[in-house]
Amino acid sequence: MSEHVDTICVQGGYQPGNGESRTPPIIQATTFKYTSSEQMSRLFDLSESGYFYTRLQNPTNDTVAAKICEMEGGAAAMLTSSGQAANFFALFNICNEGDHIVASSAIYGGTFNLINVTMRKMGVACTFVSPDCTDAELEAAFQPNTKAVFGESIANPALIVLDFAKFADAAHRHGVPLIVDNTFPTPVNCRPIEFGVDIVTHATTKYMDGHGSCVGGAIVDSGNFDWMAHAEKYPGMTTPDDSYHGVVYAKDFGKAAFITKATAQLMRDFGSTPSPVNSWIMGMHLESLGVRIERHCANALAVAETLQADPRISWVNFPGLPGDKYHALAEKYMPNGTCGVISFGVPGGREKVSAFLDHLKMISIATHVADARSCVLYPAGTTHRQLTEQQLEEAGVGIDLVRLSCGIENQDDIIADLKQALDAVFGPVKA
Ligand SMILES: *Cc1c(COP(=O)(O)O)cnc(C)c1O
Repeated sequence: MSEHVDTICVQGGYQPGNGESRTPPIIQATTFKYTSSEQMSRLFDLSESGYFYTRLQNPTNDTVAAKICEMEGGAAAMLTSSGQAANFFALFNICNEGDHIVASSAIYGGTFNLINVTMRKMGVACTFVSPDCTDAELEAAFQPNTKAVFGESIANPALIVLDFAKFADAAHRHGVPLIVDNTFPTPVNCRPIEFGVDIVTHATTKYMDGHGSCVGGAIVDSGNFDWMAHAEKYPGMTTPDDSYHGVVYAKDFGKAAFITKATAQLMRDFGSTPSPVNSWIMGMHLESLGVRIERHCANALAVAETLQADPRISWVNFPGLPGDKYHALAEKYMPNGTCGVISFGVPGGREKVSAFLDHLKMISIATHVADARSCVLYPAGTTHRQLTEQQLEEAGVGIDLVRLSCGIENQDDIIADLKQALDAVFGPVKA
């Protein structure tokens, strides 16, 4: 296959044989038939691979997972029913009660709750660190029971670019993997595995689907982390699983160990399986991801430049903007572009921010980003409203922050809509 991700978007994951359908078939089935109970038993023991029940694996889902795996340059991948499920599985696959995670504080609000509230209830502790922390601060966050480091390649909604080298070096010094949520740049703009990241997750709900139609997630494992070298830390990977007659994932499944365990145990028990139809639709939408991302990024840059020059706007965050605090990291890790999401400050307090949003005509107010249609959100009033002011600050979400997800419309129309709403709230800019 090609080394170009935009080609893999179109061609990856499915190679039909002679006379087979050009597009992948939708296998809309719960179960798969066998003629021998002996073979069925081997499937249940994981001693033979094959489909038997869609809660664990489905061929349509696997076709799309294989495409995303190729796009990320990974060794194995799986789809989940949401991005939340992907991040939960990626962490819980290697963290037990009594374990600990080090996570960047600048992450998606839903992931922050997952780690800070729900996983704590399950007995998994976490220390949050600023993505801008010093090496010493990062070092101090580790504990003997730390099992994973987590961050987002571009944080939603703070738009902070993760310093992969800093986080990967620290994780590997402590013998734990670095897990990165790569939802915002997508593998079209950034392939974290090339920078030392071990496991990559996605909310495919966002750019990968890109049309506001399918909630979904994905986990891609690089296959690079050596579980056996840290066997005492990861007994679930390196000692026999009695629920499968004693398989040892890290020994029996090579580079597919992490994904096989997550499928065999977590999918089996939690069942966060995507519908084959949803996966198929998202897989179709992946074919245009390369061209869509290019347009999203070009629109975001034009909008960011326009707003930066507008005296009514307090500040603009966009790592693609020269002069942005994270521009140098973006240039290093995602030189072809970042994402289509920008954030900016609207002065005057909650009421002015709300009035500005209410005056937008084409740009819709939606709890969503990374959609073909431009949309806008006020995080401090919605997704992040349960956070304290201090937590808001740590997550990089100020009280005046507006998040704008630039769609793939003509950029002149996006800019015109923003200007008329600013005119309505603050009056026109005096010449
Ligand atoms: C949306 C999002 C998620 C959660 O994905 P869902 O599909 O909504 O569960 C996780 N991480 C990031 C960065 C996101 O933007």
